[in-house]
Amino acid sequence: MKKAELTRREFIKTAGKGLSLLALFSGVIRFDAPARAQGNEELFVNDLIRGEDQLKITFLEVRDPEKSDAFFIMYLSEKGLDIILHDGGMDDHKTYEALLDLRSEILEKAGVTGDEAKKYKLRLRSVISHFHGDHTYALDGQILRMKQYFHFTEAYLPPITSLVTGVYDDDSNGDRWERVRYMNAIETFQPQAKIRLLEYGESLVIPTDIGEVRLFAPPVDWGENDERLKMFEVFYGYKRAYVRPEAIPICVINGNSMCMRVSLSDYSFLFTGDIEKRIANRSDEPLDVMIAHYGEDALRSDIIKYPHHGQQRNAAAKVIQYQLISDKPEAMCILTASDGWEQAGYELTKRNMPWMDLRQGSILYTVKDNKISHEVVKDAKSFL
Ligand SMILES: [Zn+2]
Repeated sequence: MKKAELTRREFIKTAGKGLSLLALFSGVIRFDAPARAQGNEELFVNDLIRGEDQLKITFLEVRDPEKSDAFFIMYLSEKGLDIILHDGGMDDHKTYEALLDLRSEILEKAGVTGDEAKKYKLRLRSVISHFHGDHTYALDGQILRMKQYFHFTEAYLPPITSLVTGVYDDDSNGDRWERVRYMNAIETFQPQAKIRLLEYGESLVIPTDIGEVRLFAPPVDWGENDERLKMFEVFYGYKRAYVRPEAIPICVINGNSMCMRVSLSDYSFLFTGDIEKRIANRSDEPLDVMIAHYGEDALRSDIIKYPHHGQQRNAAAKVIQYQLISDKPEAMCILTASDGWEQAGYELTKRNMPWMDLRQGSILYTVKDNKISHEVVKDAKSFL
């Protein structure tokens, strides 16, 4: 490994700046009086809010376009607000506006206004499941560029496919386009962010103030040799006389999705990206291989974001039911699609597995005092 690569993989733990003495403990969430900026010191809204240990996860509303993945993972503690933005969604302003609202809400409640408020940024980390536009366009198109509002400290990215070009439709290879757009945006507008590129088969814990966030990189590159041929066979071998030129690159990038498991106390959430599972009776597809590599116990969770938005992926229901979802009464599958969800929903209902989708609004989960609750947030500004 080159020395430069080692340096890029080093991490800076961005500790909250101590303001906890400014306010006595007063209930669930409280907002501290702002500190005076000293010199060129960066100020973050994350350090203006404190509270009892809790995890808040927002599955951001989808209406138009019909599918989009953007999740806010927020750990609140006496150390402040620790935020991970998982994917970013379509380039439709939704995620951008929600993050701006979050920043404004904290500033308002902390009593920071006018020119003083302009000094405060929202401090974030970015996790990308895979490089498809419905997961990343909002980031490179908007959020990463808005450096006056957002400050990214780290970015965690899935490994790059070695899929050969020139044979398939290269325009559909997200690692060739969306990944490059993202990298350009982060290097131009968020140069302080440390890039962490995972390797195939690597599992990594992201350091957090409380709880645990663990990433699971795809065990293999689905764009390489035997795996690529298997993708071809699984996805197009049976039904189609010919393969659309864009099909294999899209399936490879989906299959190479990085999974993420987020937990606090006894509750956990699994984010599956667009990992593929199309044929219920096979056991060698990307989702199956992910489970075989890391083990059911490492991945099993209470709330599962259904693979590939839930769209027409009913084959994944069986795997989730028997291998991935917990037996807690609160267990739930979340479909992040507003249209085309019927097949997945039907299959889940048939198996007595509860599910929700995001057509009615964002879904906000809270884990606190080892209890879990959720609400649908309709046109609301607040996710706190
Ligand atoms: Zn995708």
